[in-house]
Amino acid sequence: MKRAIFPGSFDPLTLGHTDIINRGITLFDEVIIAIGINADKKYMFTLEQRMQFISEAFKEEPKIKVMTYEGLTVEFCKKVDAHFILRGLRNPADFEFEKAIAHTNRKLSEIETVFLLTSSGKSYISSSIVRDVIRNNGDYTSLVPDTVRVI
Ligand code: ADP
Repeated sequence: MKRAIFPGSFDPLTLGHTDIINRGITLFDEVIIAIGINADKKYMFTLEQRMQFISEAFKEEPKIKVMTYEGLTVEFCKKVDAHFILRGLRNPADFEFEKAIAHTNRKLSEIETVFLLTSSGKSYISSSIVRDVIRNNGDYTSLVPDTVRVI
């Protein structure tokens, strides 16, 4: 069974994430969307809300699971028996950042990181831009799946 994890904060899930996830499941038997918990980070959405947005968005897709984890991503991979980490690349800055993390993870374990380039038209979307739009009462709905709603 080829299992990958797609780690991130997902604060909140965006159409950039769903693009990578939907393409990722064509490569793997199972993709675990892994929400990393970082006690020092301030989030706009609670962990429950972030999980809910993701599980609702993929409820029809049995190959996708949602889990949370703390600590090193490679340790979580070992725990769930995943041999791959899936990541999205939007731009050169993502590449530089991801390269360092992927090299480190490879040093710490046998786990391979697989990168997918974002589809054109989605590369500008990020959770931080979505949060900014929400904070300023803008229309964020074209940037996120319809399961992400602020009430
Ligand atoms: P982090 O908290 O690690 O920044 P995010 O939740 O922002 O995590 O993103 C998780 C993953 O999704 C990362 O690999 C990131 O590059 C990817 N990603 C986010 N937005 C996009 C996008 N618009 N296109 C492609 N990949 C994206």
